[in-house]
Amino acid sequence: MSGKRQRPSLTCCDAARITRAVTLEAEGQGQSDFAERCRIDPPVWRLYLDAREFGESLTTAERQTRFEAGRTPVRFCPFCGTPAPALRPRKKPPAKVSISIDGGYYCSTCHKDHGCRCAPPESLWEPVS
Ligand SMILES: [Zn+2]
Ligand SMILES: [Zn+2]
Repeated sequence: MSGKRQRPSLTCCDAARITRAVTLEAEGQGQSDFAERCRIDPPVWRLYLDAREFGESLTTAERQTRFEAGRTPVRFCPFCGTPAPALRPRKKPPAKVSISIDGGYYCSTCHKDHGCRCAPPESLWEPVS
């Protein structure tokens, strides 16, 4: 497995590793200062919620609740209860990190649309073990 474009996920137990249900997500993506910000502000552990799932049957309020739940930082592994690890800047960050400041898929690092080979911005950080 290449691992490219994969955000770090919790690795405390098999369930967390296999489902990748909780992944790191950089803050401020799509904003003009994202290139600097993703090096200063650590990314956040978030539960991956598929917004399309049950999308048709949800009311607007339910959809909003779901969206906000997805934005709430995860502090413990939902499977085994291990506290989500703190983060520190990686000593050897990847040479090329994908930075998107248009809110979409255009990578300002390599000037390609989505699917480029740069590492995700979350990989500038690593869990403190
Ligand atoms: Zn776990
Ligand atoms: Zn790129």
